[in-house]
Amino acid sequence: MNFENSLTFAQELDKNDPLKTFRNEFFIPVINGKEALYFTGNSLGLQPKAAENALRTELEDWRNLGVEGHFHGKNPWFHYHKFLTENASLIVGAKPIETVVMNQLTSNLHFLFVSFYRPTKERYKIIMEAGAFPSDMYLVESQVRFHGFNPEDAIIEVKPRTNEHSLRHEDIIKTIEDNKDSTALVFFSGVQYYTGQVFNIEEITKKAHSIGAIAGFDLAHAAGNIELKLHDWDVDFAAWCSYKYLNSGPGSVAGAFVHERFANDTELPRFAGWWGHNEDERFKMLKGYKPEPGAAGWQLSNAPVLSMAVHKVSLEIFQKAGMPHLIKKGKELNAYLEFVIEKAIAGNSDLKLEIITPKAPERACQISMLTNENGKALFDFLTLNGVIADWRNPNVIRMAPVPLYNSFEDIYHFGQILQSFKA
Ligand SMILES: *Cc1c(COP(=O)(O)O)cnc(C)c1O
Repeated sequence: MNFENSLTFAQELDKNDPLKTFRNEFFIPVINGKEALYFTGNSLGLQPKAAENALRTELEDWRNLGVEGHFHGKNPWFHYHKFLTENASLIVGAKPIETVVMNQLTSNLHFLFVSFYRPTKERYKIIMEAGAFPSDMYLVESQVRFHGFNPEDAIIEVKPRTNEHSLRHEDIIKTIEDNKDSTALVFFSGVQYYTGQVFNIEEITKKAHSIGAIAGFDLAHAAGNIELKLHDWDVDFAAWCSYKYLNSGPGSVAGAFVHERFANDTELPRFAGWWGHNEDERFKMLKGYKPEPGAAGWQLSNAPVLSMAVHKVSLEIFQKAGMPHLIKKGKELNAYLEFVIEKAIAGNSDLKLEIITPKAPERACQISMLTNENGKALFDFLTLNGVIADWRNPNVIRMAPVPLYNSFEDIYHFGQILQSFKA
């Protein structure tokens, strides 16, 4: 498409956008009496207007029924996680049996590592991206130590080449090949949080399996953002949070995926709790753990209903909009964002910006800009002018145009503000 850097052009795109009404389903933060230009849906998605009612329903059942809400509430709490399974599975391209909503992201990864990182003396290494999200670095480091290995030796990081910012897919594949006898687990994010690079999950999984390793993914920035086909791609395990692109509120409940081939594998070691126990016997209070089939058998604790209530309405919005439509609009928004940034750079010599997010298809709803000089001053200027973006040390501004609630007009206005920056 040939873009134009004008308000009428942006408004025309919005008018023809089949998803335009979804913006009304969210609260847009207001700064100085004006709707903010909100580009941090990759960090904390906006609040769905339906969240409050969903919460009120559960609070009323709790108020009126007390413990009876577990079986006699509108949405009986005993089964609450199941109300989310199907819609969550559609977001990540999984079967319901492979999907469960539970806990938090890093906790889920630890529990999945218990089952899927099973190092031996010969095969104990973990291959991951360099510069992973800190929680993932700590996760992997502590897991390796827990099994008695030295992180210096057991963790192999794939790094960008000199003067490059993102990873070459071929370098990931080569690293797996080069360590084919010693690698137990290949663990990557789906979308790199810092650069916005989309990794080729299918190919990475295939390569990991070809050397006899397990393939696991952290989908924090991928769930609700890119097309995922975890079942078809044969991924072993994955987890994601619900508060970024999935708009379910700060610290809300997370998701986990375990491939169907492990659904009835009761030999896999796991850390168990009563909520993963066979449902019919859950309240019999008997010894001897019998897991529910599938991902549900990795649950430990009873469902955090208040956070699940928000996640439930949020997933329903995704179902209504449809992932394919969202992905299509996300690509267009992102392309328009790149266009206005490039226009602003061309028209303002004070902007020393470099886009480090790789080109399509290795990108989704995110553009990361390296601010070579004046980075913090530029970021503060944007904030003062009603732009909510995201500063990441040491010198990157991340922006995520989200197809559910961002408009082309948002992006046009952002471009005008960017262009008016004076160092
Ligand atoms: C946001 C994010 C997390 C956060 O983990 P929590 O356990 O939800 O706090 C972890 N990993 C990645 C890659 C993330 O982007």
